[in-house]
Amino acid sequence: MTLIYLDYAATTPLDPRVKKAMQPYWSEDFGNPSSLHDLGRRAKKAINEARSKIAATLHCRSEEIVFTGGGTEAINLAILGAARYQAKLGTKLSLVPDSRGHLITTKIEHHAVLRSMEELEQEGYEVTYIEVSKGGLVNPKNIAQALRPDTILVSVMYANNEIGTVQPIADIGKIIKTHRSHQPDKSYPLFFTDACQAAGYLDLNVEKSGVDMLAINGSKIYGPKGVGALYVRKGVKLEPLIYGGGQERGFRSGTENVPAIVGLAKALEIAEKEKRQGTSRLGKLRDYFIKKVLDEIPEAELNGDPEKRLPNNVNISIPGLEGEVAVVYLDERGVACSTGAACSSVEVEPSHVILALGKSREHALGSLRFTLGRHTKKQDIDYAVAALIKTISILCGRRRKK
Ligand SMILES: *Cc1c(COP(=O)(O)O)cnc(C)c1O
Repeated sequence: MTLIYLDYAATTPLDPRVKKAMQPYWSEDFGNPSSLHDLGRRAKKAINEARSKIAATLHCRSEEIVFTGGGTEAINLAILGAARYQAKLGTKLSLVPDSRGHLITTKIEHHAVLRSMEELEQEGYEVTYIEVSKGGLVNPKNIAQALRPDTILVSVMYANNEIGTVQPIADIGKIIKTHRSHQPDKSYPLFFTDACQAAGYLDLNVEKSGVDMLAINGSKIYGPKGVGALYVRKGVKLEPLIYGGGQERGFRSGTENVPAIVGLAKALEIAEKEKRQGTSRLGKLRDYFIKKVLDEIPEAELNGDPEKRLPNNVNISIPGLEGEVAVVYLDERGVACSTGAACSSVEVEPSHVILALGKSREHALGSLRFTLGRHTKKQDIDYAVAALIKTISILCGRRRKK
């Protein structure tokens, strides 16, 4: 049976070159990186090499990379860690009375960010959720206006997982630096970005973007699942989520997942090397896809900015269509795609991202995301659009008859 996988934003297949690089660390090189003997030192060396490879891509120092068990954990560590460090110190960032601290984020973040923020609200912190434009873009001016003397952290995702919108991270970075220079202790607010979707396509240079923390993961860049990394700029203080043997400079205790870490570094190395070519190839396919859908399905609307967008993302709304049912129908026709975020596809909640664009509940429930990748060809898109037309005629036709 045909399988056209158009859900690369949910996860990517493991690159065979990554699998090969990981291979020895499952078997003969099984040592614990903390052991002093040769086997342990070999594992330690592999981790250090992985760390410096990732640091080279991010333009940071090796010591600034902390390995985690995935993107979600890296994000939780950045947000909860920064806020809780303040609470533990019992310090006040400012003269704002009765404030435990303030955080800023946007309405279109991944649930890993939003749920962490909600958790902090329960703990007594205040959170400002910034609105986005109709196209899903954050206006840096709105961030500037939301900054307060007691703001601990600003979290704005680099590229959105549902609609692919790319945010002006460097502009926001500049605003935060300026604000910080007027603060008494000059080290807050911190700037964090969730770069899980960006890593395969955009510039990860942290000097250029001015971020203090940045999260990436393996599962979105043809690496292994369940591994991620957090860039933590030197001097940034975080309360860990996990306590124990003090691995990862105390930020993340526990025996390191050596094969996964080696795989993450290899995957990022390949992504960097193939970024330019892949971006231009996929961008053309994406535009072809969007044009074809809008031409052939008059009721379809594109979600997200047409230009400031990941090269692999197509997200459309077909009002009246039940996105969840459409995904199942398309799957039966050999096309794998998604509606809303992959992790929320068990709930029948409308996508918070589409709602944040100011669209109706009907638009949000009728949204479909097709994300392209290294194996996507032009004929796959032709097949997928034909399958989509068929699906719409069955589902919307039936609905009209009722
Ligand atoms: C996938 C994803 C995450 C979560 O990463 P996991 O490795 O699945 O924990 C967070 N943010 C974004 C933008 C993502 O795409």
